[in-house]
Amino acid sequence: MSAFLTLLAALVATGACAYHRTSLRAWAIATVAATLVVGVLAGAWVTMVVLLVLELLIAVPLLMPAFRRRKISAPLLKLFARATPTLSATEQTALEAGTVGFEGELFSGKPDWKLLLKQPRPELSTEEQAFLEGPVEQLCAMIDDWQITHELGDLPPEVWEFIKKNRFFGMIIPKQYGGLQFSALAHSAVLQKLNSMSATVASTVAVPNSLGPAELLLHYGTEEQKNHYLPRLAVGEEIPCFALTGPYAGSDATSIPDYGIVCKQVVDGVETLGVRLTFDKRYITLAPIATVIGLAFRLYDPEHLLGETEDLGITLALLPRSTPGLEIGRRHFPLNIPFQNGPIHGKDVFAPLTTLIGGPKMAGHGWRMLVECLSVGRAISLPSNATGGMRASVAASGAYARMRKQFGLAIARFEGVEEALARIGGLTYATTALSRATAAAVDRGEKPAVPSAIAKYHATEWARQVASDTMDIHGGKAVQLGPKNYAGRGWESVPIAITVEGANVMTRSLMIFGQGAIRCHPYVLKEMQALSIADYGEKLRTFDRLLFGHIGFGISNAVRSFVLGLTGAAIGQSAGDAYTRRFYRKLDRYSAALALCADVFMGVLGGKLKFKEKLSARLGDVLSYLYIASSMLKRYEDTGRPEADRPLLAWAFHECMWRTQMALDGAIRNFPVRPVGWLLRALVFPLGRRDVPPSDRLGRRVAALITAPGEARDRLTEWAYLTPTPNNTIGRMNALLPQVIAAEPVERKFGKALKAGQLQAHDYEGQLAEAVRAGVLTEAEAAQLRRVREGTFEFISVDDFDPAELGAKVTRADRRHEADERHKRIA
Ligand SMILES: Cc1cc2nc3c(=O)[nH]c(=O)nc-3n(C[C@H](O)[C@H](O)[C@H](O)COP(=O)(O)OP(=O)(O)OC[C@H]3O[C@@H](n4cnc5c(N)ncnc54)[C@H](O)[C@@H]3O)c2cc1C
Repeated sequence: MSAFLTLLAALVATGACAYHRTSLRAWAIATVAATLVVGVLAGAWVTMVVLLVLELLIAVPLLMPAFRRRKISAPLLKLFARATPTLSATEQTALEAGTVGFEGELFSGKPDWKLLLKQPRPELSTEEQAFLEGPVEQLCAMIDDWQITHELGDLPPEVWEFIKKNRFFGMIIPKQYGGLQFSALAHSAVLQKLNSMSATVASTVAVPNSLGPAELLLHYGTEEQKNHYLPRLAVGEEIPCFALTGPYAGSDATSIPDYGIVCKQVVDGVETLGVRLTFDKRYITLAPIATVIGLAFRLYDPEHLLGETEDLGITLALLPRSTPGLEIGRRHFPLNIPFQNGPIHGKDVFAPLTTLIGGPKMAGHGWRMLVECLSVGRAISLPSNATGGMRASVAASGAYARMRKQFGLAIARFEGVEEALARIGGLTYATTALSRATAAAVDRGEKPAVPSAIAKYHATEWARQVASDTMDIHGGKAVQLGPKNYAGRGWESVPIAITVEGANVMTRSLMIFGQGAIRCHPYVLKEMQALSIADYGEKLRTFDRLLFGHIGFGISNAVRSFVLGLTGAAIGQSAGDAYTRRFYRKLDRYSAALALCADVFMGVLGGKLKFKEKLSARLGDVLSYLYIASSMLKRYEDTGRPEADRPLLAWAFHECMWRTQMALDGAIRNFPVRPVGWLLRALVFPLGRRDVPPSDRLGRRVAALITAPGEARDRLTEWAYLTPTPNNTIGRMNALLPQVIAAEPVERKFGKALKAGQLQAHDYEGQLAEAVRAGVLTEAEAAQLRRVREGTFEFISVDDFDPAELGAKVTRADRRHEADERHKRIA
């Protein structure tokens, strides 16, 4: 027993030091002291001496830096250099672009919550708020999405004019060039509102404000290029597009076969240095109407007109539409969401060198330029559009489920529908927090490479889930397309969001953890960078410091993961109030588990982890859910810890933690080296998998919250367009909702009388009259039911068409005939 107590004392001292991440010296002192004190008190002399010898054998060499470097770090440095995969230039560029924000804390195994909570609360300026309440509301009031998506296949001219005139295309352009110079938060709010009305309008506005000519010019353009293009782009005098993708280069954009050869050509009688371009691009948004075309291609200089290098690499140019040889104007048809999108081709098209973005000095830097700018647009466009659609779904599904009656009840009362409503509410809460967090990161000056990938993937995947639930809740009403259908086009638009700006499967499998693990990890990137230090002594010193920091970090994460797992994350100090403290602790636990697993996975699998996409995807999920849950807690704090939001926060938090647990479980279960997997399981899940998805009771509270007006619902639908204008069915449904709810007790009375056989008439009017005569209802109550029934009829009804109205106005046969006629004329 005395021996056991001594051993236990040494272990507890070691565990406590590891848990709190003390220095090596502090650990040595604490462990030796604990062994001595308990050993002497318990009289366990033999055990005490054995333990002390062991402790000193470990501590002394480690505390002698010169010895440690020579005997331990130097051989390990050799091994590390051999095992570290060489990064391709493309990967190197991707890793160097962007900054690390709070996601780095989540990778640390011991997040410093103060850093998150002291970040300023994101807020719109008065000017931005006025824009949202002015031009954005006005634009929303002009939108007839059926006209756009079915009748015109385009925005009507007055909408194009309004967008240009009010500088919607210039949200990211500074005021000095005539743009709006909005914050990322305002930019996000505008897109959210637009997308709550029309995915076509929102996509049209999103693209010029995302990665494209304006963003690239702002960062890399020459003064002349900026002064020429930016003022014209800000007011829509120039319509931009950016062409990267082609038939042979989709997700792997670096493989573009499009090329340019540096050459001289006589232009207007003057010999001009330029590039002869051959390219085949597709899927390019705004291309059919673009006046300035951003083009990515590989630049070659075989005659060395620019310098020594022949293959200069990816380069970016801006071509005016009038460039001879440019084939542009045809349209693709993206899933009935007819924003302008089409192919661009060119063979031996000559462009002067002045068209290169940034001028000749930026030749070959195109990939770096793209990657450096990518994260900002990706943090805003797709997450905001997804969030706007989800906010509209909350308003629409919540109101519709209360208005639509079946089996004598509002469908919201059925548990199956309630489950879908809870998902809509909970996932929307999480996504609003996520898109707010990434926009806030951009506004703090970050280039959030990893969070933008998290936001792009999860916001669009959850929008897909919410769109699917919205369709289910609405049944046939959402299936029958027409002006009255506000859900169908949103559903159709989902795969577009999933595919663009980094297709989701690749984003999840390759990018989130792949980049996160190296960028956010406190040691890995630094260790890799240490390999390139030229001076060996300096390299060894740096590596030694990082290596032992890393080992201590790993031990600490193992201990923290085990202890927090064993105690159900119920101990220790953490941030938050009495309600949220347990949430922060849970995040502490899974942060330690993620850091531990990431180290073990990278350590054991090395470069092979890159190809184990299913493992990498799951660890990426863990990082994502931790990031999303942290964003939700920040949102809760920023909004003044509103009690009304608690069901939403709790639902979304439990969902995230359950998914985190399942992702970790899946990664460990499928880890190829089984004994390592068993050890990880013991450390991460010492009591098994104990997190559960949100309960049915919690789901009921969320469903109740989104089916009735209230402050939590208002916050959830903030920045959705809900003004009850004639073109806005969801807005008008929402406006009617209080009356529908007020009539429910009267409806119940009426329903009871019907069921009891008190009312014999076959039609509704007759039944109401009978109910009044029988004293079941008063005249006022009957009028109330009549009003609500009339009011809701519009919302449950669908469109029908004259057969001639459907079908393309111009068929393929017509087009073929036209082409034949043209050919005949030419012949
Ligand atoms: C409506 C629309 C608008 C667009 N607008 C523009 C634009 O304005 N400018 C522009 O340049 N491009 C644009 N794109 C192109 C868009 O960025 C590409 O579609 C996208 O990069 C994916 O390429 P792909 O469609 O060829 O799919 P592919 O690359 O063929 O991918 C097919 C599938 O394989 C998966 N995949 C690929 N590689 C991996 C991997 N390593 N690991 C795991 N999974 C992988 C993908 O995730 C996807 O699920 C647009 C596309 C669409 C549909």
